[in-house]
Amino acid sequence: MSHTPVESADLTWMDGDQPFSTRFDDVYFSRDSGLDETRHVFLLHNQLAERWAALEAGSHFCIAETGFGTGLNFLAAWQLWDTCAPQDACLHFVSTEKYPLSQTDMQRALAIWPELEPYASELLAQYRDLTAGWQHFSLANGRVTLTLLIGDLFDTLPQLDAGVDAWFLDGFAPARNPDMWQPALYQRMAELSRPGATVATFTSVGDVRRGLQAAGFAMRKVKGFGHKREMLCGQLEQPPEAGWQAPWFARPDAPGERCAVVIGGGLAGACSAHALARRGWQVTLLEREAAVAQGASGNPQGILYCKLSPHHPPLSRFIQSSYQYSLRLLTRTLPQNEETWQQCGVLQLAADEREQKRQQGLAAQGYPDSFLQAMTAEQASALASAPIEQPGVFFAGGGWVSPPRLCEALLQHPLISVQTYRHAIALQRTATQWQVLDAQGQLLAEAPRVILCCAHETSTFEQTAHLPLKAIRGQLTHLPANTQSAELRTVLCADGYISPSRQGSHHLGASFRFDRLDLQPSEEENAHNLQLLQALSPALHQSLQHTAPSGARVGLRCTAPDYLPLIGPVVDATAFADSYTALGNDASLQPDCPAPWHPGLYVNVAHGSRGLISGPLSGELLAAWINNEPLPLPRELAEAVHPSRFLLRQLIRRNATDRP
Ligand code: SAM
Repeated sequence: MSHTPVESADLTWMDGDQPFSTRFDDVYFSRDSGLDETRHVFLLHNQLAERWAALEAGSHFCIAETGFGTGLNFLAAWQLWDTCAPQDACLHFVSTEKYPLSQTDMQRALAIWPELEPYASELLAQYRDLTAGWQHFSLANGRVTLTLLIGDLFDTLPQLDAGVDAWFLDGFAPARNPDMWQPALYQRMAELSRPGATVATFTSVGDVRRGLQAAGFAMRKVKGFGHKREMLCGQLEQPPEAGWQAPWFARPDAPGERCAVVIGGGLAGACSAHALARRGWQVTLLEREAAVAQGASGNPQGILYCKLSPHHPPLSRFIQSSYQYSLRLLTRTLPQNEETWQQCGVLQLAADEREQKRQQGLAAQGYPDSFLQAMTAEQASALASAPIEQPGVFFAGGGWVSPPRLCEALLQHPLISVQTYRHAIALQRTATQWQVLDAQGQLLAEAPRVILCCAHETSTFEQTAHLPLKAIRGQLTHLPANTQSAELRTVLCADGYISPSRQGSHHLGASFRFDRLDLQPSEEENAHNLQLLQALSPALHQSLQHTAPSGARVGLRCTAPDYLPLIGPVVDATAFADSYTALGNDASLQPDCPAPWHPGLYVNVAHGSRGLISGPLSGELLAAWINNEPLPLPRELAEAVHPSRFLLRQLIRRNATDRP
């Protein structure tokens, strides 16, 4: 999938406040009344008011749009949703955009519509630094999600996994943007549509009508808005034949009762519980300790370290989308202060030539400066307010976060009940429920769905014993700040890291130990962490090297062999091997046999030392799997983090090596 840099919209302003695209030589919305036109074309002719009023409680509805532009259509749809959909239903709005507007331009364009102001200001508070890839937003306390597929829609829509109920076919006039109005688009729209899906577009061009008809939509011409004579609307009449889909990556059965048990109160558990509760699910979270965030998520200060590769492998693309979603979640969930989190920026410094190359490669990718910016050593020193001797890249949106404060804030939701001192060790399935048991066989909780978020201990449950999870010990060193070090303004990181002081202490990290799994802090690892500081800033090192640590903390990070997390549904491993054994002889086979899911069982684990980055979006992805919603990541990334990927690889590899 292409990951070219994003070009932003080229705008001029007509009559002071009307956005006009110089690239396409066309207006973004009607000069007469863009909002009324949106209502007429897209809302009315997809019959949204009637359809939404008839929705059942707890249901959801998906709109997909070609061309997000100023967000006007989205905001108008959100406003209507607010007035006529049931309280606990969710609207999912997926929109494509090749040339996103800057936040400033969007603000200016939307200022024309005072009645949309409450919606626009909530969106704008989270709309910044859009880079290539998918950008996910959770709005209106979870009643509305927005997933922006940034890039050309011919690259992004093939990766979309969604069931669309209504299409907003927008995107400049066909004569001005002929590359977009193509049969391949109409075909993909049909493939993504749910039964009964509707479509509306402002144009009445014959080629568009015929193209949509050829793809299976029954189309008709109706009165256009204002002076426009006609427009098109329609409904999917003949769904295309569904192609083969890998059953091991298919969606398990649709949800029933909306209640779940989450096991584990670290970041993955808190993010999973929070994402479900925002969708109206009742969640019981079981934690074996006296409080949440006692394991690897218990460090007082974690950093938002967005490590990207200029070659954009799946891990890097996953991190990029996740990092941006984390910043949005933090912005709306946790007020910044001395204790909770600080968006003070993160300076990634080049410790060696290889790292310098990676950073130069990244800096050349055309990211917005506000997202990532190359720095000389002098610039870095000025920014950090500390002497730095090597160049680096600066992530202005990053910073440090207290993971326990974040977990607590996420679990504040009224639909989440946190139960501490509950040590779950086994799961037992009845006809409709999972029962969660402790070591004495006592029933701790039961629900139709269980999400295991117990880091490496997830593989102690019989059903998930096959997951290749590994623990890696890491130690943080707490160091009292002194006058010089208290001046540090940003997080510094290379092989190790140091954060600006929080409540009078710095936290230096972190060791990686594979040889021991105990939780006893060691002198040796404190010395190692101080040594890592030497590579970040020799001056800071010199000033702090004789300071006695005020403490240290050990945590066990959970990782998988490919360093990607495991997020999604779980299968019965033995039945899986039996069902798909033939793949070993021929990996190109397309078996139809449904995957042997453990009904309603999911995992969210293996976030390594990146839980602050990958936790929040992992919750959204998990909720999307469970709730049968559009996935917030491209299909290939959702599969790259799918828990069954290892079983599949093993099967193919094992049989391949068995062959003579
Ligand atoms: N729906 C928008 C609104 O509410 O403001 C107006 C859309 S504007 C008329 C058309 C949008 O389509 C532009 O923002 C343009 O950048 C985008 N676009 C055009 N061609 C595209 C393509 N091939 N892939 C993705 N977006 C595209």
